[in-house]
Amino acid sequence: MKCPFCNFEESKVTDSRMSMDGQAIKRRRECLKCNQRFTTFETIDLTVQVLKRDGTYEDFKQDKLLNGIMSACRHTRVSHDKVKALAYHITADLMAKQLREITTKDLGAIVMNHLQEIDTVAYIRFACVYERFKDIKELLDAIDSIKIKNGDNCLVKNKKLNSGDLDYASETK
Ligand SMILES: [Zn+2]
Repeated sequence: MKCPFCNFEESKVTDSRMSMDGQAIKRRRECLKCNQRFTTFETIDLTVQVLKRDGTYEDFKQDKLLNGIMSACRHTRVSHDKVKALAYHITADLMAKQLREITTKDLGAIVMNHLQEIDTVAYIRFACVYERFKDIKELLDAIDSIKIKNGDNCLVKNKKLNSGDLDYASETK
């Protein structure tokens, strides 16, 4: 931590305390060279890095995850609240596991696992973009492999793919 007055790199901590909301630690420091005092705030960094297929990283963002799930759930019986709860749940899981990074592939698989339990149409939509089925047979096999619920039988006909909407899914080229 450089001194803001003289840029010297060493300082001693004279006082440490947690901020009101418990999210940061406030430290009083004294520069070992010029003896000026200053305060630093240290926040806890829980950023998960998402490793994309092209080898680049980006910060995990719950909003982006939310948008991806929301697109898959459009015009289904899955409520907006449920989508939000799912995005929150997945994010909380990642935080709890204290992951430093996750691949788009693994993240997509987690989303698919959850969607499979919630809504068949949303699951298939997400899977279509995420898995990049080679041909229609692969897609049909995947559909056969899950239980088709009543009323969802026409889901393939009604399916509209919009890969641009499924942010995290569309990364998996
Ligand atoms: Zn100094």
